[in-house]
Amino acid sequence: MDFKLEPVMIPASDVDRAKDFDTQTAGFALEVDGPAGEDVVTCPECEQPAAVERRAQLDSTDGPVEHLKIRCLDRHSLFLPAYMLADHPG
Ligand SMILES: [Zn+2]
Repeated sequence: MDFKLEPVMIPASDVDRAKDFDTQTAGFALEVDGPAGEDVVTCPECEQPAAVERRAQLDSTDGPVEHLKIRCLDRHSLFLPAYMLADHPG
């Protein structure tokens, strides 16, 4: 008999349940959370991945400037102009 292991895809139809499983059963820490397709940028403090939690347009003398509230894996919570992020979305 010749057995082979093959990868099996388990569809995660319910993202919240999958997340609960990952964080509560499998023991993964939930560091970056958000809806699918959430923007992830690089934290300018520590260069870890950071999730964009909020976007805001703030007025400046040059017109509105997009600001991002981000939180990174190192738990830096920053609010800064988007252009200060090397890989800012948009
Ligand atoms: Zn950081």
